Amino acid sequence: PKPVTGSLLDGLDPDQREAAGSGGGPLLIIAGPGTGKTRTLTHRIAHLVSERDIPPEQCLAITFTRRAAEEMVERLAALVPGHAAKLTIATFHSLGVRILREQHERAGLSADFGIADQTRQLEILAEVTGEADRRALAELSRNRRTGNVDELAERYTKALRQHDLVDFDDLVEMPVALLDAEPELAAAYRERYRWISVDEYQDVDEQQYRLLRLLAPREGNLTAIGDPDQAIYRFRGADVGFFLRFQEDFAPARTVQLTRNYRSNPHILGAALQAIAPGTLVPGRELRPLGEHGDALVGVHQAADGRAEAAFVARTIDQLLGGSSFHSLDSGRVNSDGTQGLGFSDFAVLYRTDRQARALLDAFAQAGLPVQKRSHDRLSDRSGVEEIVAELAHPGAGTTVAERVRHAADTVLARGVDEPLVHTAVELLKPLALRCADLAQFRTELSLGVEVDTWDPRADRISLLTLHAAKGLEFPVVFVVGCEDGLLPLRWPGAEPAEEELAEERRLLFVGITRAQRHLYLSHAAERWGRAVARSRFLTDISADVERIGDAVPRGRPRETQLRLL
Ligand code: ATP
Ligand code: MG
Repeated sequence: PKPVTGSLLDGLDPDQREAAGSGGGPLLIIAGPGTGKTRTLTHRIAHLVSERDIPPEQCLAITFTRRAAEEMVERLAALVPGHAAKLTIATFHSLGVRILREQHERAGLSADFGIADQTRQLEILAEVTGEADRRALAELSRNRRTGNVDELAERYTKALRQHDLVDFDDLVEMPVALLDAEPELAAAYRERYRWISVDEYQDVDEQQYRLLRLLAPREGNLTAIGDPDQAIYRFRGADVGFFLRFQEDFAPARTVQLTRNYRSNPHILGAALQAIAPGTLVPGRELRPLGEHGDALVGVHQAADGRAEAAFVARTIDQLLGGSSFHSLDSGRVNSDGTQGLGFSDFAVLYRTDRQARALLDAFAQAGLPVQKRSHDRLSDRSGVEEIVAELAHPGAGTTVAERVRHAADTVLARGVDEPLVHTAVELLKPLALRCADLAQFRTELSLGVEVDTWDPRADRISLLTLHAAKGLEFPVVFVVGCEDGLLPLRWPGAEPAEEELAEERRLLFVGITRAQRHLYLSHAAERWGRAVARSRFLTDISADVERIGDAVPRGRPRETQLRLL
C-alpha cells in the first residue's frame, strides 16, 4: 500500500515516512543508531491521532526510561498539542503501576500499596535469608526477569506482600500473572490500547515480552523499533532474541529499515561500523552518513595512567571551547558563520564503570570545568531523601505537596540532620514536588524515579555518564575513556569473559561511539589503578578514520573553534 503523506510526515525521509505512515498490523522497524528511530516513532503516533483519526486514548507508547518518556511527551505536545495529554506514554514499569493500581484488589494489594526501594528490598531479603546482600538481590532480580521463579523468589515476594509492598520486578511480573490468569481482563486492556509501540525493543526481557504478548492488540497494531547491535542489557535479563523473532511472533509483520544516519560525521560512523562488524547481529547492515557534522577524524589517545587520561580529556575540552579565558562567556556563543559555538552541555565523557568517574571529576574540578554526573541511584535511595519522605506522613500543615515537603525538611533539620544533606535532598525532590498533584502520586513517582536524578540534559555542564546511561542520547563531542582490556571489555579479575559477554561489550562500545555527532575521542591508559593494562582488543578493529593524538595539542583544530577565534 502507498504510504500516506501529510504534514506530520513531511519532515521525514522516505524510509522514515514509510514507517511512520504505515497503517495497522505488526510492524518492525530495524535501524542503526542516529537513523531517527525515536523521531519516527514520535511522528508515527502524531500522524495516527491527527491524520488517521485514531483516538489518542487508544495509543500506548512504551519507552525504555522515564527520561525518554518525558522527552516523547514533550515532543508530542509540540506536534499534536490537542491530543498529547490523552496519549499513554509509559515505561514498562509505570505501565505496570497503572495496571496494578487499577486492579489492586485482584492483585491482593491495598489501594495505596508501596513500591519498595532498594533499602527496603534488602531489609525484606534479610528477613527471609538472614542477611542483606546486594549481589544476592541482583541475582534474584535477574532470575525473575528471565522467568525463573525459584523457592527463594517465592519466599521473598511473599514477604514483600505481607508488608503491602511490591518491588520493581513485581511491576511487570504481577500484571503478567494477573492478565494471564484472567483472560477477560487481558481482553479489556487490549480493547483499551489498540495501538501499541515500543522503542528500544532489542532490550526487552522475558517478563516485558510476556506483558506485550498479553497486551498485543487484536488487530495486531504493534510497532516495535530498535537495533539488535545496541542490545546492552543482557546482564539485567534482556534478550535480543525477542527482537530477532518478532516476525515469527507477530506474523505477518512488515519490516522497514532506516539507513540514513543523521547524527554522526562520516569518520565517526565509519569507526562505529568497523567496531561492530566482527560481532554484528545485523549482517550487511546499510548505514550511510547524512548529517552535516564536519569531518574531524576520530582521535585515539594513549595516556600514562587514569589521571593523565582525565587531564587529556579536560585539556581537549578546554581547547575545543577555545581557551579557558572564554569559559564563562562561552555558552550561547555564535560563530561567524552563524552556527552555534560549543557550550559545556555539548560534551559527554562515557565510561564503562562508575569507578572511572573519580579521576575525571578531580581533573574537571582542577580545570574549573562544570560537570554533572548521571548516577544510577534511585532518588529514594539518596540519603536525606529518605528522612524527608518518612517525615511526610506526619506534617499536617500545608496543602500542596511542595509545602509539605518543605515542612518535612524543616522537621528533619530541627532534628539535627546535616544541613547541606537536607538542602540537596530538597533540591532533588523539587521537580517531583512541582509535578505531582497529591502525596500518593508523589510516592509512586519517587519510587519509580530510577535514573531521574540530578542529570539535566539542558544544564550547561559537561556530562559524565556510564556507557549504559548514554543509550539513546547524542552529543556534539564524545569521549569514550578506558578503552582497555579489562574495562572495555570488562573482565572480573582472573576470568576471561564468555563469548556472549564479549559480544555485548562490543555492542557497548558501538553504543558509545555512535553517541557522537562532530568529534569523538577514544582513550586508554598504560596503567590503571596501579596495574599495567593493555589497550582494548576492540580498538584494533578500528583502523581507518582514526588519528593518534599524542600528549601535545590535538592536530587539526576543529573548524568551529577556528571560526570562533576570528
Ligand atoms: P539511537 O539508536 O541512538 O536511539 P535513533 O535512531 O533513535 O538513535 P534519533 O535520536 O531519533 O535516532 O535521531 C538522531 C538524530 O537525527 C536526531 O538529532 C534527530 O533529530 C535527527 N534526525 C532524524 N531524522 C531526521 C530527518 N529526517 N531529518 C533531519 N534530522 C533527522
Ligand atoms: Mg532512539
